[in-house]
Amino acid sequence: MSYRNLKAVAAWLAPGGVVLFAAVLFVNYGSPATLADLGHGYAYAVFGTAALLAWRFHRSRVLAAVLAVAFAERLLRVTAADDHTRTVYAAIAFLIPLTLGFLATSRDRGLLTLRGMTQLGGVVGLVPLVGVLLAVAPGPMADFFGYTALESVATEWVALPQLALIAFGVGITLVTGAAVYRGKTVEKSVFWALIATFLALEAIPGSTVSSLYFASAGLILGLSVVETSYSMAYRDELTNLPSRRALPELLMSLGSTYSIAMVDIDHFKKFNDKHGHDVGDQVLRMVAGRLKRVTGGGKAFRYGGEEFTIVFPGKSRDEALPHLEALRQDIADGAFTVRRGDRRKGAKGRGRKKPRGKKLSVKVSIGVAERNGRNTTPEQVLKAADKALYRAKQAGRNRVSG
Ligand code: GH3
Ligand code: MG
Ligand code: MG
Repeated sequence: MSYRNLKAVAAWLAPGGVVLFAAVLFVNYGSPATLADLGHGYAYAVFGTAALLAWRFHRSRVLAAVLAVAFAERLLRVTAADDHTRTVYAAIAFLIPLTLGFLATSRDRGLLTLRGMTQLGGVVGLVPLVGVLLAVAPGPMADFFGYTALESVATEWVALPQLALIAFGVGITLVTGAAVYRGKTVEKSVFWALIATFLALEAIPGSTVSSLYFASAGLILGLSVVETSYSMAYRDELTNLPSRRALPELLMSLGSTYSIAMVDIDHFKKFNDKHGHDVGDQVLRMVAGRLKRVTGGGKAFRYGGEEFTIVFPGKSRDEALPHLEALRQDIADGAFTVRRGDRRKGAKGRGRKKPRGKKLSVKVSIGVAERNGRNTTPEQVLKAADKALYRAKQAGRNRVSG
């Protein structure tokens, strides 16, 4: 498996999959006494913290999802010795995956806006709804949620009623679709939270194990808020490259040999003027895509605007040069096709008249410098690279200068 694939798998597993895996290990191999000690208090602490984080960071979907999971946990426990236990269980098992599936495909709304309130109200409202329906028509409720369409061996493996299994199928499909399509932390977390919820429902209703799995779902959701905030601070949203703010962390870890390159798109202003800002953004994304694949162990950052930084840990200037030259060539040779959907909306004028799917040629200038006796700190090396970039521009652009 290549390093890139490995990173993709890691991005899927962390942190949700890891949290869930730890919970599974704990349930199966932890001492029963510790599990009992943990009790249900742990779940409340987790739900409280996760809800607070979601609220403070304006993540309406996460807040709604945490509340849904917390209600499920609570309801199962209070009704554990109830006449309606089985029906409540079946109703929760049916509603939770659909709720999480719906939340994964919807968007975050301001908590105090009508849409945000509707999102939250919808989830919170499910609880009294189930309560009222149970009080009014317990028989039909039991029949509906406990409905068994076909007797089969497969359904004997799991405790969930068939209707709930179908709901989980729908939920998982929605969440996986959203996670793959959007590739965002929240969607991936909802995926793992859904799996944790499934395990919670497979455990004895109201038991510590069940609570622990529900709490794991809450923990996964809470962590997604922290993860999202981190990536918002350290990742550039347009290009998905690490942002300038992430640069010092790498610079601090450098040894005595390294090179830094500054990359600047040639005549970028013209792209914006001629084709519109949206096309300019597309060009930035496409250039960033090539920068991500730079060889020689280079790590690319968006420094700002149409400027990028590439750090080569452990490489001298001469060692970095061929990789930068290959990168420059790769960008200059590739024809960038302007996508249709992204065209300047409602704009009149030249940009609009361009034929669809037009090919543009994009070129970059690169300046590189290494750590040496004169430039000893990363800041000095970066400044030297900037000067080299200036020389590349002066010499006619579309070249590497070192
Ligand atoms: P040179 O070859 O000398 O680098 O010329 P240039 O036009 O690329 O240089 P200049 O610095 O004059 O222009 C940079 C332009 O980049 C100005 C600004 O409009 C554009 N720009 C900066 N950030 C963004 C962005 O996020 N999106 C888009 N579409 N344009 C951006
Ligand atoms: Mg510039
Ligand atoms: Mg430029």
